[in-house]
Amino acid sequence: MYNKYYLYYFKNVCYTINILIGGERGKLISAVSGIINGTVKISDRKKYSTITVAIACVHMLLILIFRTIGSVPMTIYNVCSVVGYLMCLPLIRRNALSWVFAYICVEVPLHSFLAIYTAGWNYGFAMYLIAIVPVGFDMSFALKNPVRGIKISMIFGLFSFVTFISCRMFSYYNMPLYSVDNEFFVQIVFFFNMLCTFLLLLVYSFIFASEINVAQTVLRKKNSELANLASKDALTGFYNRRKMHEYLVCAAEGKEVFSLIMSDIDNFKKLNDTYGHDCGDEALKAVSDACRSCISDGDRICRWGGEEFLILTNRPLNAAADTAEKIRSAVEHCNLTFNGIDIKITMTLGVSEFDPSSTIDKVITAADQKLYIGKNSGKNRVVK
Ligand code: GH3
Ligand code: MG
Ligand code: MG
Repeated sequence: MYNKYYLYYFKNVCYTINILIGGERGKLISAVSGIINGTVKISDRKKYSTITVAIACVHMLLILIFRTIGSVPMTIYNVCSVVGYLMCLPLIRRNALSWVFAYICVEVPLHSFLAIYTAGWNYGFAMYLIAIVPVGFDMSFALKNPVRGIKISMIFGLFSFVTFISCRMFSYYNMPLYSVDNEFFVQIVFFFNMLCTFLLLLVYSFIFASEINVAQTVLRKKNSELANLASKDALTGFYNRRKMHEYLVCAAEGKEVFSLIMSDIDNFKKLNDTYGHDCGDEALKAVSDACRSCISDGDRICRWGGEEFLILTNRPLNAAADTAEKIRSAVEHCNLTFNGIDIKITMTLGVSEFDPSSTIDKVITAADQKLYIGKNSGKNRVVK
């Protein structure tokens, strides 16, 4: 039974050391740079386990300090604190962070006050009251209700401040219970307490900065995913009309030549009526694949309407008409089989060139009119 618990805590300590030296990645440098770059997020579990074990280690050293000072009650208090922090580890694993938070909020101010009552102000035990303030704020984000957590952290921060002032006043008017006649020892303990305080503040500032960095990286990624989703048509993967309009405005503002190809699948209504809407969707995908294979890198293609596609190409009229012809032929020869039936698809395309004295609407209308001519003169053709 005891063996099991011993092993459990041993595992936790190893787990923490493993995190400190970089975990599975094996290298501290790569872990730290991952955290700084915002690509590695420290999980709450790992973070609080590490902090809790670190605080327990500090209390272990405080046991030695209070033994040297000669205070049995404070030695016992620190032994209990170590046990308390180790007991927080299973709570952290179970995500019961509010209990851990409550324990820290009570333990640290109480320890500072009792330590000053016992040994006096000069050892610097009050500094932990400053170090613990960011811990409270950080833990508030991990609580179920972060807004309430921030309010509690504010109150805790003020409480730490009041405790700090009270400790100072108390130590000013009262002599400590135990005094050590060794100024060097006092300075060593002061330095130790100051070091722990600085380290905790440094680590927490780093954690805050890295977490903001991770949050910003995630947000940027999500934003670009959303922008991509908002500009694309789901069925074909082509741009939607709104996004194409932005490209058209951009093209019209530049002084370069460009052309538009307006295309429309022939007799699509009939295809839908004969083979069903699902077949129509498959045909749309097959046509979009054929179009995609014929356009160049700089060309933009959008789903202009139901089965109409608009292509913006930075080529002059004749070259654009060649592209249109390639598309027409690719669509005609695309092999679509639906429920074992070979489906024949054709497309008519109208091409127009942008004239700098013209407008976007006019060049679109011109391409539309060419398409209309193509439809009226037998379909499955390119009109420029
Ligand atoms: P035309 O050769 O003159 O173009 O004749 P058409 O039958 O293709 O006529 P039109 O272009 O007006 O047909 C549009 C049809 O496209 C009507 C609509 O049911 C169908 N459609 C529009 N969007 C979709 C879609 O997302 N999926 C499917 N399956 N059909 C669609
Ligand atoms: Mg059509
Ligand atoms: Mg149509």
